[in-house]
Amino acid sequence: MKRHRGSHCDVERPSTWVSYRAKLCRTCQATCCSLPVEVRIDDLVRMKLVDPFDAGDPPKQLARRLQKQGMIEHFNFKNQVYTLARRADGDCIFLDPSSRRCTVYSQRPATCRNHPQVGPRPGYCAYREQVVAEN
Ligand code: SF4
Repeated sequence: MKRHRGSHCDVERPSTWVSYRAKLCRTCQATCCSLPVEVRIDDLVRMKLVDPFDAGDPPKQLARRLQKQGMIEHFNFKNQVYTLARRADGDCIFLDPSSRRCTVYSQRPATCRNHPQVGPRPGYCAYREQVVAEN
């Protein structure tokens, strides 16, 4: 039988989030990795989704290619911001569904590096303790 321990933060409702402390990440189910992640071209290059030689290509062309590859779900031309794709359950495509760890951690986008200091509610996060199996 499985049970869910911990807080009941709703990722969609920042008013339910808890005050962030670094140690929370150790036991969290990575709820923040189901928030929309906005990235810029330098993030895409660091993540190796765009070759440095192609970084100067017209942004709309890059966006079309990345959308076709299923890497992004949206491109905001005005702000030159790309939104990473998510799975049907809302998780980022770079989140390992089993370990709940980022598969591109050392190359992760600035948005992820700066969360939750920058985000919907600075200084707060949608902590949810990992699901644990009971005997
Ligand atoms: S890139 Fe990594 S840290 Fe950022 S949302 Fe996706 S899985 Fe989480």
